[in-house]
Amino acid sequence: MPTDCLFCKIISQEIPSPLIHQDEKCVAFADIHPKDSTHLLIVPREHIATVADATEQQEPLLGHLLVTAKKLAQQKNLKGYKLQFNVGKEGGQEVFHIHLHLIGH
Ligand code: 5GP
Ligand code: ZN
Repeated sequence: MPTDCLFCKIISQEIPSPLIHQDEKCVAFADIHPKDSTHLLIVPREHIATVADATEQQEPLLGHLLVTAKKLAQQKNLKGYKLQFNVGKEGGQEVFHIHLHLIGH
């Protein structure tokens, strides 16, 4: 794990943050600057910097993030929601550890 990765530190709880979901492949926690009443980040335990760096071998992991987001949206009774990956600096990505935004109300 890169020692300077914020999300790796949240996953390991080196930076304590309440985890809303955790399983063997990913965790989810609230975004610190929410864009709606629900704004979660679904983050793979494996450090991958961006979707652009993901390999075909990681296809099931990326799918798992989407299915986890769907389940969390159902648990929170969201009527509709946005799922977003920002990819690369020019794509608005600020934290270089893949994360799926789940935004809705
Ligand atoms: P990105 O722009 O990389 O797609 O999204 C990064 C997200 O991480 C932003 O929405 C930002 O608010 C969130 N974020 C940045 N630092 C922290 C933090 O320390 N804790 C949490 N929970 N979220 C953070
Ligand atoms: Zn990381």
